[in-house]
Amino acid sequence: MRSKRVWAGLLGVEQVVVESVRVEPFGSVVDGGAGAAVVVSVRPAAWWRGRCGRCQRRCVGYDAGRGPRRWRTLDVGTRPAFVEAPAPRVRCPQHGVTVAAVPWARHGAGHTRSFDDLVAWFATRLAKTAVARLLRIGWDTVGAIIARVMADADAAVAAGGGDRLDGVTRIGIDEISYKRGHKYLTVVVDHATRRVLWLAEGRSKSTLAQFFALLGPQRAARIELVSADGADWIFNAVREGCHHADICLDPFHVVKWAGDALDTVRRQVWNTARRDGSTESAKQVKNARWALCKNPDRLTDRQRAKLASIAATNQPLYRAYLLKEQLREVFAVGGTAGAALLDRWLDWAARSQLRPFTELARKIRTYFRGDILNTLTHRLSNGLIEATNTKIRLLTRIAFGFKSVDALIALAKLHLGGYQIELPGRT
Ligand SMILES: [Zn+2]
Repeated sequence: MRSKRVWAGLLGVEQVVVESVRVEPFGSVVDGGAGAAVVVSVRPAAWWRGRCGRCQRRCVGYDAGRGPRRWRTLDVGTRPAFVEAPAPRVRCPQHGVTVAAVPWARHGAGHTRSFDDLVAWFATRLAKTAVARLLRIGWDTVGAIIARVMADADAAVAAGGGDRLDGVTRIGIDEISYKRGHKYLTVVVDHATRRVLWLAEGRSKSTLAQFFALLGPQRAARIELVSADGADWIFNAVREGCHHADICLDPFHVVKWAGDALDTVRRQVWNTARRDGSTESAKQVKNARWALCKNPDRLTDRQRAKLASIAATNQPLYRAYLLKEQLREVFAVGGTAGAALLDRWLDWAARSQLRPFTELARKIRTYFRGDILNTLTHRLSNGLIEATNTKIRLLTRIAFGFKSVDALIALAKLHLGGYQIELPGRT
């Protein structure tokens, strides 16, 4: 094997002609540089010459561009290495004047494909500081690299005829906040594969409409079930984007509504007691807050005692507590028995003489009964997406330092989207 071919293999670049190899001073030992770098001058193999960097169509030449460029590639032993080549421009009928394609790097990238893939592979397996130190790049560069690797992965899946969105029938939709609640992402998961299907910045009907546009009418028609919390924008987007799908309202959110109603009753009772000067009774209600909102199986003995005393002395508040617990039971039972229990609950809540509960019963009967029945029938909750969001929340901390939200989205897709990123030289 000639030494020039050996070099191409070492650097993880293919379809090139190696012209020369030299060692140059590079960085300093202090800033992580090795003191010297390997620079390999190459030119693309014949097939690659004169092609558009965006579409790889063969084009007429335009000019020599801004002279030779360098792309960071895999280290050679302990030395950082660069591929150096001319970067002429071509004139593409579709893309205009653009830098010609090269076989070793993505368009516009300053790193080779092998280097990019190595970064993406490491990003899900090593700590942030380890990746940056090992590869001698900044964390924001890691973000930019992941973003382009994932964009490429999506394009490759689509070009292969298959698509991650094919055959999806049950999805979950939710929002997640980041930047201390100032920004939001919309997340769509596939219940069958338990993967993140899609992520985008924003939380509105128009954000989610982008997902349904990507899905297209045929695939949208195959979506059978959508789990979601009670957010209007999700409901509205689903009704427009895949109107025949059944929405399964998330049990956690429904029970939370009952918890909020219970808390309103508790505050009303407390205020009345204070106004009437019954300080002892007011204190009892105030102290019982946690006992009332906790699930019964997690109560401490003290909290059990508090509940018992409320049952004995404070009928409206205890009734509110039982209503909350009974609604939880509806979902625990599920199926047709759960559906029957829901209707009995709605009657009971409507007659409870507790305004927060009569209002909740009206709201559920008017808008959400059908969606809750879907949940009971299909036993589909938003639990998967809640778990996914917890993981994404951790990733937003890791992504701190990335310049764009695209990098955060790419990191989340890389971790949770089920993509296979191969290490260079393994296939
Ligand atoms: Zn082009």
